[in-house]
Amino acid sequence: MRVAVISDVHANRHALDAVLSAIDEEHVDAVWCLGDLVGYGPQPNKCCDLVRERADLSLIGNHDLVALGELTVTDFNDEAAAAAVWTSERLTESSESFLRGLRPQAEVDGAELFHASARDPVWEYVLTEEAARATFELTSAPLVLVGHSHVALALTSEGGEVAGGLARADAEVQLEGRWLLNPGSVGQPRDGDPRAAWLLLDLERRFATFRRVPYPIQETQAEMREAGLPPVLADRLARGE
Ligand code: ZN
Repeated sequence: MRVAVISDVHANRHALDAVLSAIDEEHVDAVWCLGDLVGYGPQPNKCCDLVRERADLSLIGNHDLVALGELTVTDFNDEAAAAAVWTSERLTESSESFLRGLRPQAEVDGAELFHASARDPVWEYVLTEEAARATFELTSAPLVLVGHSHVALALTSEGGEVAGGLARADAEVQLEGRWLLNPGSVGQPRDGDPRAAWLLLDLERRFATFRRVPYPIQETQAEMREAGLPPVLADRLARGE
């Protein structure tokens, strides 16, 4: 079984279109989304529609929960909060009902999935060894998938020690032992590579490939400016940070 894993779409429709086209070329058996469909970007409803149509499974993320009013914006910085308010005022009923049906964690085909981490599926960033170790300890599946940090990562655990790190474009991992993977972000990468990120898994061959795909960043930026979203959120897309 071959699976495409996407995460942190953040209402960036052009990035999502590019990733879905790349996924089409791979003829995968399933698409899994790790959450944060909306927030930051200009096309929340289109992205909800596309994920609902294309993903066999989707989690909900912290930005989705804030847009639904199920979490408050107090934990966000000013720009994220402004974008969350903008999003919540524009979500259609169908987007809202789709998002409300999602959970921040799932178990599927022998893998454990979390938007953020096993310790806190909604908020915790797995960006330290300690956080990675905690998620390994709280799970038992050989493969654990997380999103949320917008940084593509491949970490493994051997005898309580965490190894691995950033997963660059085209990085390949043989999934022997236990692995914790973050596909990176479709709509707002923060690892210095502005291209949209996704992850291709082959669950039989136990193989993972980190993919990056270019998309028309300027089109998303233009839509953000037109929408009145904070300029700093549009600017960062070009830098991948
Ligand atoms: Zn996110």
